[in-house]
Amino acid sequence: MTHAAPDQDEIATDFAAVPSNQAAGGPPAARAVDLRKVYGSGDTQVAALDGVNVEFWPGQFTAIMGPSGSGKSTLMHCLAALDDATSGQVFVGDADLTTLGDKELTRIRRDRIGFVFQSFNLVPTLTAIENITLPMDIAGRKPDQQWLDTVIKTVGLGDRLTHKPSQLSGGQQQRVACARALAGRPDIVFADEPTGNLDSVSGAEVLGFLQGSVREFGQTVVMVTHDPNAAGYADRVLFLADGRIVDEMLDPTSERVLDRMKSFDAHAAAHAAPVS
Ligand code: ADP
Ligand code: MG
Repeated sequence: MTHAAPDQDEIATDFAAVPSNQAAGGPPAARAVDLRKVYGSGDTQVAALDGVNVEFWPGQFTAIMGPSGSGKSTLMHCLAALDDATSGQVFVGDADLTTLGDKELTRIRRDRIGFVFQSFNLVPTLTAIENITLPMDIAGRKPDQQWLDTVIKTVGLGDRLTHKPSQLSGGQQQRVACARALAGRPDIVFADEPTGNLDSVSGAEVLGFLQGSVREFGQTVVMVTHDPNAAGYADRVLFLADGRIVDEMLDPTSERVLDRMKSFDAHAAAHAAPVS
């Protein structure tokens, strides 16, 4: 796989050399088959997902873009076992989520999936390090200490690890949330607009951390973003409109993503009903 983003050498140089999980011939880290999600009924029915087919390969960083309401969050939630589909299938590795019961879904969410929310979702009464290890503590699992040390070192919080979220900047809080998502060594990490509440400098730190986890650890990351600059960190961009994947770009740069978005806007304007 080739990587187009220009600044990869400046980012995450602290990542230990961990063998990539990009096993040849294995299944995708996650995939959706004919995925549909319908909200409501009758006149108020909305097809948030309208037949999505997509694969996410191990060690790949995918950005998902699309207008507000195009189904990005719904897709992420269905892929991450946070919501169930109306029809179609979702696989995480070779597990078909649509056939699993609550107990098995809970285990998959806990052991194989990491999720990063736009609003950080840290526990305010816990320190940064306590937040990072919380999912493992709840599960009663011993962390892989060497892995945890690597993640913590790379997250770059230094002595702020014992600070509460309110004592951290937004960028630091989101890096804690990313470290929490990575700490259990999940098969795949989903991030829904992780830089949406951050200034550009903090956003770049978070994106560098996510990108580094892909480049150095072979982590699989799927990230929703509105920002062409953020999408430029990814290996590919999927464009969603009205609950369908309408385009894909490999090895994106922020300039090419911006151009593509402009052409979508022009297309939408040309097909919009005339204003009377
Ligand atoms: P995006 O993340 O791209 O902005 P969403 O996945 O949040 O889009 O929403 C896709 C569509 O589904 C929108 O039309 C939205 O209004 C609708 N939708 C999302 N969640 C719900 C819900 N819980 N109940 C009803 N409609 C919903
Ligand atoms: Mg959304």
